[in-house]
Amino acid sequence: MKILVINSGSSSIKFRLVESTSGETLAGGLLERIGLAEGRMEYRRGSDEKIRTDLPIPNHQFGLSLVLRNLTDPAHGALGSLNEIEAVGHRVVHGGERFTQAVLITPEVISEIEENSFMAPLHNPANLLGIRAAIEMLEGVPNVAVFDTSFHQTMPPVAYVYPLTWDLYKDRGFRRYGFHGTSHQYVAERTAAILGKPVSGLNIIVCHLGNGSSITAVRGGRSIDTSLGFGTMCGVMMGTRSGDVDPAILLELMESHGMSASEVKDLVYKKSGLLGISGVSSDMRDVEQAADAGSERAKLALDLFADKVRKYIGGYAVTLGSVDAVTFTAGIGENGWEIRETICAGLEAIGARLDVEANRCRGQERVVSAPDSRVKLLVVPTNEELMIAIETERILGLRS
Ligand code: AMP
Repeated sequence: MKILVINSGSSSIKFRLVESTSGETLAGGLLERIGLAEGRMEYRRGSDEKIRTDLPIPNHQFGLSLVLRNLTDPAHGALGSLNEIEAVGHRVVHGGERFTQAVLITPEVISEIEENSFMAPLHNPANLLGIRAAIEMLEGVPNVAVFDTSFHQTMPPVAYVYPLTWDLYKDRGFRRYGFHGTSHQYVAERTAAILGKPVSGLNIIVCHLGNGSSITAVRGGRSIDTSLGFGTMCGVMMGTRSGDVDPAILLELMESHGMSASEVKDLVYKKSGLLGISGVSSDMRDVEQAADAGSERAKLALDLFADKVRKYIGGYAVTLGSVDAVTFTAGIGENGWEIRETICAGLEAIGARLDVEANRCRGQERVVSAPDSRVKLLVVPTNEELMIAIETERILGLRS
């Protein structure tokens, strides 16, 4: 089945045409700077050369029309006609408590995604721009919303309720929602497939380590706890986000150091993490380079990063009771073998022993634990677009 997967941001659209049965990417690309004077489109069919076009892209409708024109272009297209697109799968960041799984998009669903926008003000309205453009441009083609949060809706109250006051949860929806759900689900399912066991019988800890990071405890293919929460700054340390910090510091900064709420927000979301400690960059490669060149702050940033990840893995090992596998994914998890080595150096405590040689790989699906390791360690490149395509098929009743 040919499914167009769309990840729409406020000024960008990432797209991928997926053959969901084989998992093959037929074409894909990115539109950037939508609404600005100088826009840009990148398009690639299969493994062909990337085509880059600079042109103004006034809005998302125009952007999507460019995508569709390229997909059916006689020279570099991947479709004979638009009729071959059987469905569109949309990434939507926040589904709140309402959406426990992907859903066929109807006018009511659009209203509910709008209602959830207060929890993801930067993302949900932007996701809706892509949804509206697809409805307009591809008449009669079903659209499915796949939420970052829904995979985590299986968490028990003990994982999602914050010990503030009950009313804050019950009346105002302050609870842990979790994010990166599509990635965690894909990686957990791939981990089971690689180990040759049904996911229903496995306890897996998925470490999605990218610019944004989260760790999830997955029991029997279902999320039972995750490190991101109501928002996206808690949990482990990230590129520019602090992860868990003592809220007393933030209150003190506002009460006694004259910082406004928006300055504190800027601090914890944009100036902290790898960037804040290393003083070099939010990018793991730059921080590793600086550490190799002798920067003590960069070394500390790497040690802090590994320490936070390890503590979550240890905590979730206890939550799960026993662990079958720990899997690393996303930019850092897939590629950063040095930091994986540092993280795994502490995992003997849960019965996981790294094969140092096997671990020296980037961007490949691989078991990287020693043969006698009780807990398997794996690297699995994430594929959120394929997972969105598979979920889209499932919701349309075309896949069991
Ligand atoms: P993502 O948000 O998943 O795209 O991941 C971005 C992060 O992955 C950045 O911090 C990159 O530095 C990191 N990354 C990408 N390639 C490598 C690599 N070869 N080694 C270490 N980190 C990497």
